[in-house]
Amino acid sequence: MGNPRPEVIIDGKAAAAILADKITADVAELRWETGLVPGLAVVLVGDDPASAVYVSSKHRQTVAAGMASFEHRLPVETTEDDLLALIERLNGDPAVHGILVQLPLPPQIDANAVLNAIEPGKDVDGFHVQNAGSLATGQEALVPCTPLGCLMLLKERLGDLSGLHAVIVGRSNIVGKPMAQLLLSENCTVTIAHSRTRDLATICRSADILVAAVGRPEMIRGDWIRPGAAVIDVGINRVTRDGKSRLVGDVAFAEAAHAGAITPVPGGVGPMTIACLLSNTLTAFRRSLQA
Ligand code: NDP
Repeated sequence: MGNPRPEVIIDGKAAAAILADKITADVAELRWETGLVPGLAVVLVGDDPASAVYVSSKHRQTVAAGMASFEHRLPVETTEDDLLALIERLNGDPAVHGILVQLPLPPQIDANAVLNAIEPGKDVDGFHVQNAGSLATGQEALVPCTPLGCLMLLKERLGDLSGLHAVIVGRSNIVGKPMAQLLLSENCTVTIAHSRTRDLATICRSADILVAAVGRPEMIRGDWIRPGAAVIDVGINRVTRDGKSRLVGDVAFAEAAHAGAITPVPGGVGPMTIACLLSNTLTAFRRSLQA
């Protein structure tokens, strides 16, 4: 028990900065070669404060990378038809190479209908059923940003992941399931756990790689982590302790001294998610040049 040593901590902020620098250089080079820049359209419906913060941060970083950023902030009472009409316009706009609809959407809008209306080649969140299917069948896809960032951090720290046992706690379409597909494609043996899993602690203890994507503050205790295991904590949970509000992950970080590697919260997976959004936008742009 106790806090992990500094050399064990995976610095997602530093990794994201390196990736963003590389993307910025590539964008400048492509601009010089083609006179064009990648464009990312972000759509926010309603005024959820956390979503507004994410959208502003995406806008800032898109512009900083030399890309064009198009923000569409729509009122909370927007109808599904109005949103679908905007998506159709963005699908047909040659200056837009990536489209992201910030989730969650208000209850009158069917999120799946909206996500599946995005042109798959512009679906930089990778949530379209065609991209999910392509990822699952090993074909070229745009991959959801959070699991893509997790995979980059793991490969950077561990190198070849072949044969390792990866346990993913959480089976959402945006994190758990695509994470499992990515790790499977790296030749890991993959176990997906969820709220109905029996004896979760024992399963977690069998992991060489443990990915927590649950949304429950510090649910994964130190004694669920095998000594030397690599731990990726996707969870972002706001808690109030001693009268102070702060963010914690799904893993009890202060009990993880024996982990071989671990991402902190904040400063781990979060920064990589936005860097991977830029990376996917660049990928979509490059593919549009080849089309
Ligand atoms: P979801 O709520 O969609 O999924 C949570 C998953 O956790 C479900 O599969 C659920 O199981 C499982 N679960 C819930 N309770 C338990 C339990 N007691 N034991 C085992 N499994 C359980 O969440 P998301 O995947 O969208 O997000 C997960 C976390 O990651 C959140 O904290 C979110 O804020 C964070 N996040 C962070 C991002 C980043 O950039 N760092 C990006 C996206 C998410 P079941 O399916 O059976 O209900």
